[in-house]
Amino acid sequence: MDIYFYFAVSVIGLCFGSFANVVIIRLGKNESVVFPASHCPKCKNPLRWFHNIPVFSFIFLRGKCAFCGEKISVIYPIVEILTSLLFCAAFYKLSVSYWTIFAALTLFALLCLSVIDFQTMMAPDSLNFLALFFALLTSDDILTNLQAALLIAGALTLLRMGLSSALKKEAMGEADIILGATMGAFLGLFGAFFALFLAALLAIIPALINKKGGQMQTPFIPFLALGTLIVFLFDKQLLSLFKF
Ligand SMILES: [Zn+2]
Repeated sequence: MDIYFYFAVSVIGLCFGSFANVVIIRLGKNESVVFPASHCPKCKNPLRWFHNIPVFSFIFLRGKCAFCGEKISVIYPIVEILTSLLFCAAFYKLSVSYWTIFAALTLFALLCLSVIDFQTMMAPDSLNFLALFFALLTSDDILTNLQAALLIAGALTLLRMGLSSALKKEAMGEADIILGATMGAFLGLFGAFFALFLAALLAIIPALINKKGGQMQTPFIPFLALGTLIVFLFDKQLLSLFKF
């Protein structure tokens, strides 16, 4: 595929990344995504259009608000670049089709959910169900996607009930189960189980690093999203590795 196509996709990805930042801030605080216009969280000054150019604004403002000099988190340009990369990855993996747009949007929603969960330890249902909706449309076989989504959600619900009664406390959140359904729709049954397994494996790492910290709450959604991304990108390689 030619370089101009990927240039266009990455620019569109950057714009979606800019929107992702709005979604992350507003939904993380339970605010409307659409109103009011973007403003500095400290001095409340509305941003001008040239303060809103993905990545470049951050660079030419040197990471500070143009009005009050408040530091702008480096998370903003990182989210923009990641969204751009995810969009390119979706088109590279699936080539150009109607379904690829929904795959890119699924990855976009998973990134937003991951950052919100990382920052606030919760995941808004609206965004979670939106991700599921996108994932259901990632192939022409919507019924099979729906079946896989329901099966994974059912399996996780059973696991949750079993774990909760064994541990005598709430194990896994409902948000994880909705995301499991999204993974089923997006990756298919085997892919989703593999991604869940990967996510559980990856989630052990911070627990190992933070041994002394005692009870540390680790957000699980970023790991589920990471497992999903790995299986989405490398499903063929993983299949040949394990031959299932
Ligand atoms: Zn400001």
